[in-house]
Amino acid sequence: CRMSKNKNYSQEKFRLIFENSPVAIWEEDISVLKELRKCLKDRTVTNAHKYLSEHKDLFFKTFSSIRILSANKAALAMCGATSKDQIIPGFAKNLTKEVFEAMVGKFVAFLSGKSSFEAEIRGKNLKGKSYEVLFRVSIPDDCLKDFSRAIITLQDITEQKKMERHLRTLAQLDSLTKLYNHRTILNRLDAEFLRAKRYGASLSCMMIDVDHFKLINDEYGHQRGDQVIRRVANTLRQSVRQVDVIGRYGGDEFLVILPETKAQNAKIAAARIQVLFESKKFQVRSGRSISIALSIGISGYPAKDIKETKDLVAKADNAMYAAKKMGRNRIVIA
Ligand code: GH3
Ligand code: MG
Repeated sequence: CRMSKNKNYSQEKFRLIFENSPVAIWEEDISVLKELRKCLKDRTVTNAHKYLSEHKDLFFKTFSSIRILSANKAALAMCGATSKDQIIPGFAKNLTKEVFEAMVGKFVAFLSGKSSFEAEIRGKNLKGKSYEVLFRVSIPDDCLKDFSRAIITLQDITEQKKMERHLRTLAQLDSLTKLYNHRTILNRLDAEFLRAKRYGASLSCMMIDVDHFKLINDEYGHQRGDQVIRRVANTLRQSVRQVDVIGRYGGDEFLVILPETKAQNAKIAAARIQVLFESKKFQVRSGRSISIALSIGISGYPAKDIKETKDLVAKADNAMYAAKKMGRNRIVIA
């Protein structure tokens, strides 16, 4: 009698922990996987993932037969459900591609003998609220054969993911100008170069350097210099097309990638940029504004001496130095 009292006590304790856990947890019976396994075997399926992706009816039949045994408060709240029995039908009715992919992944993992599965899923709950969750499922050892019980936890990672994306974006940008930084612009150039190579498209690259920028620093101070760099960057950003990609290559040097553009046409774009700068004044202190001129070097792909990205950059850089040598404020095509 005392034993059973203890047992009741400990069951009640676990029930309370389960029910009030801040982590969303539910328990489900996925013994339908046994039928799915047999069905795939009968149809001599070798690639279960591909087969389930192509046979949605079979997938839905399996998915809809999952029975949720218990779900705690946090799980119901996260799913936007008022009872555990709404969860599976609710998601089945409005299954997004991402949830579908994760569920196929889960079935395949367990059919291939794994005892746990996890996926990050972005989607909406039954009330339409957007979520990003870490979805984890594990099957207790004694249920591995019959799939009679699996334990699911859902962790809300919405804020964490938002922060990750924000940090990733920040890491790609130059802090002063908010243009792509050196590393990122070169990565983008790599990607554009590969694409141009694969599709036989043309691609141009512009190296732009401010003329006599040191004089601005010397005359008005480094802080004003920073301000001018920021304004030059904004002006450049406005003067390139939406499809062009621009980055701060270094101090007063900017790199523009012009996809699907021949060097001759890049020259027209460069001339437009120079005209814009000629018409613009940059304030360096109250009551004092100055003109800024640019030297621009251009290289274009395809060209016989350009085998990789760095050849394209080196050529544009050399052309830019040639423009400097010729007296600055001009455009040179490599
Ligand atoms: P050139 O016409 O040959 O380009 O002359 P320049 O004076 O512009 O010289 P160069 O392009 O070789 O050097 C750029 C200078 O820009 C070097 C440095 O003093 C300054 N600079 C580089 N980065 C920054 C920055 O972030 N802020 C400020 N204020 N100045 C910078
Ligand atoms: Mg310069």
